[in-house]
Amino acid sequence: MKALVKNSDSHGIWMEDVPQPICKANEVKIKITHTAICGTDLHIYEWDEWAQRNLNLPLIIGHEFCGVIEEIGSGVTHYKTGQRVSGEGHITCGYCRNCRAGKRHLCHKTIGIGIHRSGAFAEYLVIPETNIWPIDNIDSEIAAFFDPFGNAVHTTLSYNITGEDVLITGAGPIGLMSTAICNFVGARNVVVTDVNDYRLKLAMKMGATKTINTSKDTINEYFNELNMVSGFDVGLEMSGNSVAFNSMLDNMYNGGNIALLGLLPNNTKVNWDHVIFKGLNIKGIYGREMYETWYKMTQMLKSGLNISKVLTHKLKIENYNEAFEIMASRNCGKIVLEW
Ligand code: NAD
Ligand code: ZN
Repeated sequence: MKALVKNSDSHGIWMEDVPQPICKANEVKIKITHTAICGTDLHIYEWDEWAQRNLNLPLIIGHEFCGVIEEIGSGVTHYKTGQRVSGEGHITCGYCRNCRAGKRHLCHKTIGIGIHRSGAFAEYLVIPETNIWPIDNIDSEIAAFFDPFGNAVHTTLSYNITGEDVLITGAGPIGLMSTAICNFVGARNVVVTDVNDYRLKLAMKMGATKTINTSKDTINEYFNELNMVSGFDVGLEMSGNSVAFNSMLDNMYNGGNIALLGLLPNNTKVNWDHVIFKGLNIKGIYGREMYETWYKMTQMLKSGLNISKVLTHKLKIENYNEAFEIMASRNCGKIVLEW
């Protein structure tokens, strides 16, 4: 089968012919129809320091996908061939304390597809039956990025945001989807910051009340316009940028709630005075809740949440190099590749 393989420790990714994966007991083999590129895939493509530290090569990359079930292993009971599905890319042990408590997103033995084992940028993918998420009445090109949509849902629904003033730092694909979710759930102000005007324009289309390019303007100069008095009730950090995180701490209201999704550098300096004297709550977010987040994602889409504007580029898989270069330019939302 064809697969996008990282096979050498240099910039790039290569289409190769590789053996098809074997579908064993309790596993499902999916014929991939659509995949989406994640920031992680770009790290691997560019072969940066994180990728060099975390990956064993060669590796079929990718974890955002949609496809059709081609084969089911023995013991699979809930799915049949021909069914359209996406799936959770974190494979958990099922036996640790958290897994057995129904908190699989906190499993300490999590394995990521396309990172620790063969991924989805291939004609076929095999994953455990437990990781399958069936798709009905949702476009395959949207289902292809359920994984980051799930990051947005998990983060955004961490706190009660109805009627609240929400600050989202970072208008990448996840921040953009989070903007739409905040709106859908009934936040009062949804303020989005970035340093990229292309993405801020997209944030307005996704339903932001106000966008601020923080390379030019400060956040609090807009408080009057937004009818805000003292700061934001909820902060969703989705940039992974330490300046953005500190600007969030500066602009939170006392007792506010922060969810951290963006991967901040280890040496990020924090003004702890804000955290302590404002009595802030800070919660780290990893992945998606299995499978409550997936349930909410599906039901919100079925009841009117529209995230389609985040999908800015659709290309054929043959044009994967072009897709990665668009991704690297960051003048894009989600990019979907059709197989
Ligand atoms: P992305 O890199 O596409 O988006 C980040 C955005 O932040 C970019 O648009 C960038 O211009 C913007 N930014 C940079 N500096 C800024 C600043 N000073 N102020 C405001 N914005 C600034 O990433 P994404 O795919 O949308 O993901 C968002 C973050 O979440 C990334 O850090 C990613 O690594 C992380 N992530 C975490 C998890 C998890 O499970 N915790 C999962 C997926 C992604
Ligand atoms: Zn576990």
